[in-house]
Amino acid sequence: MICDVLVELAHVFIDKTFTYHIPQELVNSCVVGKRVEVPFGSKNYEGFVLSVRCGEKEDLKDIIRVVDDYVILNKELLEIGKYLQKTTLSSLMSCYQAMLPLALKAKSKVKKTVVYEKFLSLNNDVDLSTFKFNDSQKKIVDILLKEKVVKKQDLEFISKSSLATLIKKKIILVDAKELRSSNDLVLEKKDFVLNSEQLKVYDEVLASLGVSKTFLLYGVTGSGKTNVYMKIIQEVIRRGKQAIVLVPEISLTPQIIMRFRSMFDRIAVLHSNLSYREKYDEWRRINEGDVDIVIGARSAIFAPLSNIGLIVVDEEHSNTYKQENTPRYNAIDVAKYRSNYHNCPLILGSATPLIDDYARALKNVYQLLTLDKRYNNKPPVISIVDMNKEFKKANGYLSNVLLEKIKDRLAKDEQVILFLNRRGYSNFLSCSECGKVIKCPNCDISLTYHKSSNMLRCHYCGYAMKRPLLCSCKGELKEFGIGTEKVKEELEEKIAGVKIVRMDVDTTTRKNSHEKILEAFQRKEYQILLGTQMIAKGLDFENVTLVGVISADISLNFPDFRASETTFQLINQVAGRSGRGKVLGEVLIQTFNPSHYAIVYSKNNDYLSFYNDEMKIRKKLGYPPYYFLCSLKIVSTDYEEVKLHSKKIGDYLNKNINDAIMLGPSVANPFKVNNKYRFQIILKYKKIDSIYEAVKNIQELYFSNKKVMLEIDFNPMKL
Ligand code: ADP
Ligand code: ZN
Repeated sequence: MICDVLVELAHVFIDKTFTYHIPQELVNSCVVGKRVEVPFGSKNYEGFVLSVRCGEKEDLKDIIRVVDDYVILNKELLEIGKYLQKTTLSSLMSCYQAMLPLALKAKSKVKKTVVYEKFLSLNNDVDLSTFKFNDSQKKIVDILLKEKVVKKQDLEFISKSSLATLIKKKIILVDAKELRSSNDLVLEKKDFVLNSEQLKVYDEVLASLGVSKTFLLYGVTGSGKTNVYMKIIQEVIRRGKQAIVLVPEISLTPQIIMRFRSMFDRIAVLHSNLSYREKYDEWRRINEGDVDIVIGARSAIFAPLSNIGLIVVDEEHSNTYKQENTPRYNAIDVAKYRSNYHNCPLILGSATPLIDDYARALKNVYQLLTLDKRYNNKPPVISIVDMNKEFKKANGYLSNVLLEKIKDRLAKDEQVILFLNRRGYSNFLSCSECGKVIKCPNCDISLTYHKSSNMLRCHYCGYAMKRPLLCSCKGELKEFGIGTEKVKEELEEKIAGVKIVRMDVDTTTRKNSHEKILEAFQRKEYQILLGTQMIAKGLDFENVTLVGVISADISLNFPDFRASETTFQLINQVAGRSGRGKVLGEVLIQTFNPSHYAIVYSKNNDYLSFYNDEMKIRKKLGYPPYYFLCSLKIVSTDYEEVKLHSKKIGDYLNKNINDAIMLGPSVANPFKVNNKYRFQIILKYKKIDSIYEAVKNIQELYFSNKKVMLEIDFNPMKL
């Protein structure tokens, strides 16, 4: 027997399989969809078996071993990979790799001596207090106490000899293979009944179980979309099937998981905060059929469930469903593919559907379902604070109106959420003499000042430097613009003794830090939760009665055709955090653009009017949903090369596309990131056929070009 193997050649994009002979003793275990180790050149590599057929050894090399005891890429996943390859123009290997947890990816350049992955755990039968540990031993034990199971390699860097001693003394056990890192806390199960509006939605979907069909559930915040999902899933499970629920980023919405756990048992949760081992364990449980529901962020759409009865994409407008690097896929497209494969409905749910999707629903491409009432309370009262008038009076970034309301709520022992879409202290530093703005040496971006660490940081490449005392011209450096750090400082100056917790990328780098902050806020250890968009979604705190948007202008001024839409969504989402309990909620939006339609319709909670106005603008400017977009970025460390190749590509496209509009080539925004110069071409088209072949040809030309990189993005969420 022989087999075709797709080999992982460490990012050399040869999308070719190579044929190997299967030695007799491996014939039974070497099947399609498993990883095998094969010789290639002077080294060994891993790859996926894509086909097995009859054939003689002749001059073929033998596969060395079969890596897996079970199939990793089943028939459906193999097909999905090919679908991604075609629709995103990425290498097939990059698609399969994106679909699997790290532990199951094909590794390149396997060392000749095979190292099996070893997992370590503490021996529960040993009383740790009877040992005297040295420093590094203590470190190792502490990590294991916290993480339960850790890969041996991950602990060896602390001290190989200490680790060896602990293993020798049987304090640590090697290869705790079957010890599952269980984060399953079992909650007491609760059930509930749907109200009549929810029941209508439920009935519509139920009538379509067993049919591949996409629903758009437009349900205002607090209307009980999650409850409806749960009830439908209950029925799906009763019929012996499984469900996938996608959420924007799970570490941000621990509450939704709790709600599912209070109704179901066999749940797997997949998110980016899981350790290597945890991800692997959850994947295995799903693959073995031990799970009815998979909840997770984008890549959970690839969960190896074999009998899917429903797929839900919550907050479907979220741009986190689009992967920003290769393969640039959208999980919603994969969801449609799987809905088709399994003949099951797909529900896209949102309080502010993506304009494109609402348009599809109005054209009956999707079936529109609506929930237009909050379940148990009234929507919050939203008002606009015109900063053109208030800013001078304010002596800071917090208007007097907002400040008074905050004080009022704190006096009543209620809590406040404040939202600002920018972290750090001040947006940039500029010299008061020569006007120079301090920029990142690697990027065409100003550095953000972080006061607590007295550092300037690049939010694109991570570059950091100590804040200089003066400009190079000896002029004084002034701070411009706001970030969460500065707002916190201003609050602490203006409200004596106020207890504020900040939640942004800078305060949530550690594992579980999101949960810890939110739990502390829940326990009322803090009066104000201040954060970036990571606080906008899914939070449900009954005691929060006031939400303040510190500046609606940051997202509004973003140079992107979705800027108004994003602003509308953000305001709606943060507003939804207010008044979830008995007391009527209130929302204040600070802005210098009080009459902008995105702001006015946000205030009136009027999605439909926003949709209509936005559609007119999209039509006039030729943006989605009137046109599809394809973005090509030409990237290189060599400026002349980028310019040259951008022109070449532009010329080629001009000649070879028909029925499509080309913008550019022009400099991308930002022009330089991580020392790489970037140009961009945007194609607007109505039918993919009019551009696909031309774009594919270009992509093939640049596949193995080491100097110039081409990033192709169909249907980008942002330009
Ligand atoms: P959405 O996801 O649409 O914003 P949620 O699902 O979070 O809304 O519902 C808002 C609140 O109303 C939640 O606290 C939820 O538990 C409650 N709720 C909604 N529907 C029901 C129901 N049928 N029975 C009991 N509680 C419900
Ligand atoms: Zn940078």
